[in-house]
Amino acid sequence: MSVHQDIRYTITPADPAAHLFEVTLEADAPETGMQFVLPAWIPGSYMVREFARNVVWLKAEIDGEPVAIEKRDKHTWVVGRVPGGAKTVRLQYAVYAWDLSVRCAHLDQSHGFFNGTQVFLRVVGREALPHRVRIDAPAGVRDWTVATTLPEASGRGGAKRRGFGWYVAADYDALIDHPVEMGRLTWASFDVRGVTHDFAINGRHDCDLERLTADLAKACEAQCALFGDEPPPFARYLFMLTVVGEGYGGLEHRDSTALLASRNDLPFVGMKETTEAYRGFLGLCSHEYFHAWNVKRIKPAAFAPYDLQQENYTRLLWLFEGFTSYYDDLALVRAGLITRDEYLGMLAKTISAVQRGAGRTLQSVAESSFDAWIKYYRQDENAPNAIVSYYAKGSLVALALDLALRAKSGGAKSLDDLMRLLWSRYGDGSGVPESALPALMREATCIDVSRLLRQATEGCEDLPLAKLLRPLGVSLSWEADGDLPSIGAKLSNEGESIKLAQVFAGGPAHAAGLSAGDLLVALDGLRVKAGGLDARLARMQPGAAVSVHAFRRDELFETRLQLAAPSPTKAKLVEDTRVAKSVASLREAWIGRR
Ligand SMILES: [Zn+2]
Repeated sequence: MSVHQDIRYTITPADPAAHLFEVTLEADAPETGMQFVLPAWIPGSYMVREFARNVVWLKAEIDGEPVAIEKRDKHTWVVGRVPGGAKTVRLQYAVYAWDLSVRCAHLDQSHGFFNGTQVFLRVVGREALPHRVRIDAPAGVRDWTVATTLPEASGRGGAKRRGFGWYVAADYDALIDHPVEMGRLTWASFDVRGVTHDFAINGRHDCDLERLTADLAKACEAQCALFGDEPPPFARYLFMLTVVGEGYGGLEHRDSTALLASRNDLPFVGMKETTEAYRGFLGLCSHEYFHAWNVKRIKPAAFAPYDLQQENYTRLLWLFEGFTSYYDDLALVRAGLITRDEYLGMLAKTISAVQRGAGRTLQSVAESSFDAWIKYYRQDENAPNAIVSYYAKGSLVALALDLALRAKSGGAKSLDDLMRLLWSRYGDGSGVPESALPALMREATCIDVSRLLRQATEGCEDLPLAKLLRPLGVSLSWEADGDLPSIGAKLSNEGESIKLAQVFAGGPAHAAGLSAGDLLVALDGLRVKAGGLDARLARMQPGAAVSVHAFRRDELFETRLQLAAPSPTKAKLVEDTRVAKSVASLREAWIGRR
């Protein structure tokens, strides 16, 4: 028997009012210079966040005797000289948990949530050992349950399903890929291909759980069907949702997802229709579920394995986030949860969103993927002018390729074939090489779309969507974006004032020398206040030059701005009604029957 058997943690919601988890870590046979490291980022959210900043205090002992422990860098603690024959090193530390997002940790009197990346120090060199963790209830609390896909430990002290107690992960990588929610949770369950799917809700809500689980079962089934006849690649799956007044977020994990949504997004008992908000929520669930295949198992080579201490560069996020964004809503229409018209409406919104940003002409989705760490995840007021979203444009890349494959093969091939090849070849987590896509695409479909693929992912020209949609009997047209003359800026209210939040490159505000942050004071010599600008613009004509007064750094200045016609960036997708049978069947194979 090896002396290095496992790593053992306990985690306790020690002071919910101060938002502090207390954690202990025990490792056997300690060595001089042993290192303990907290990740700098969490997989799925591509930004260095330096989670170690939330460690409030930390101390160490060896065989019951306090020992010195030093920080080597911002993430790393090192124990000094360890006496020969020492049996166990024990760290004890507190983690501040007051970030209510799916990527962090949060604790108060009503619930606790954590990702392992926030709370579990990694013992360098021992990542491959089993990692056991005992999850404790807060003192005096008896009615909380635990939502996690961490496997329950067997034997004495082992947790029961949804209970406190011991859990065990195969290795460190697994330990941090099963987030944990605890509190007075609402539970619901459904089956997909014989696999239990749980849904746990934290927070007050009036959700129609029967409707929700029935709908989700259909969406999940559609995602499974894409990959073949097999059951999904996990023993069980868990959606854990925190509901709030306003909020949105999701983070994918191998067997679960953490979600944040508004309680108003959920269906209520008696709700007949599928509201836009609920469609969005189903799309979010569908998105994270698809990630269980695409990015958690099929992953870029750069993530195999993850380096959790620094940026992991890949030019392929358009494949992992963009394709996932394409298949999230597509699964809903394939499952009959939304109509074809609703689906085309959602698609048109994405096309419009991409078209509105001048950044699309400067940055490819491959570049956007590579620089996600410093650009997409750290957007400032200039983002629309400089960045293209590998989510939104990436989903249009998927659409373009799917349409091209369907049209060129008369419906025999589609992007689904590529996903199935990726799944069979890389589903083991070995990692897709950066430049493998053109060859994989040819192999999966026997069709050469490499020029389109290269242009769409490495280039900055607009995708030829109108041309690609036509053979499937769908027309793309462009309409004016609104009916007011445009000043070429995104506005926000700051108290009674109107602030320019973003100034669009090449637009009227840009030409007039206005900048993000400027406070708009008057138009044509008359004061404008928050909420009052549209009424003024409605009385003006595109092309008219108006005087603008604005404040920058509290200094008043005047400029002239020439109003523009609203830009034709609103996409509209319409199904052609009278089409040949062959076209109708291509369309049906893509987005289902009417
Ligand atoms: Zn995603």
